[in-house]
Amino acid sequence: MGIKTSVTCPGAGCGRQVDLGKCPNCGHQNWRTYMDQNGSDVIKCESCDISLGSVKCPHCGCKIDAAKFGNWTGPCFIATELYGYNSPQVAILRSWRDRSLMPNYGGRLFIETYYRGAPTVVRAIQRFPILRDRIRALVEIVIRIVSPRNT
Ligand SMILES: [Zn+2]
Ligand SMILES: [Zn+2]
Repeated sequence: MGIKTSVTCPGAGCGRQVDLGKCPNCGHQNWRTYMDQNGSDVIKCESCDISLGSVKCPHCGCKIDAAKFGNWTGPCFIATELYGYNSPQVAILRSWRDRSLMPNYGGRLFIETYYRGAPTVVRAIQRFPILRDRIRALVEIVIRIVSPRNT
C-alpha cells in the first residue's frame, strides 16, 4: 500500500508533523504498510523485514498508529499493483473516483470500504500469482464501465 512519509501527530496539543524517517534497524527508507496476520496495520521495512505497529512522536512522545501512515487517498492499489502507478488504467479509475464517487456520501462510503479491503486483495495477488489474471479481468470490466465515453 502507499505510505505517507510524514503525518500530523494526533497527540493533544501537539499537531506537529512527524517524519517516518529511516529504518532504525538497517538505515534504509523503504517502508510499506501491511496488514499482519492479526489484521492490524503495520509499517514494514522492505529491506530488512522488521515491522512497526506504531511510531513514536519525537515531540510529545505519544504513539502514532501505523494505520495513520497508510496512504488512503492514493490511487487504486489493486490497479497500481496490476498496471503500475502511472498507467492509463490507474488514471481512469482515479478520475472516476474523484468525479463520481467523492461528491456523494454513498461513493465515499464505497471508497472507504474499498480502501480497507484493497490491501488484502493486493497481498493475495502478491502471494498467489494465479489470482492476478482473474482480478485483472474483473478490473478491466470496471474500467470499461467507468471510462468516459468517446463522443
Ligand atoms: Zn530495515
Ligand atoms: Zn506529538
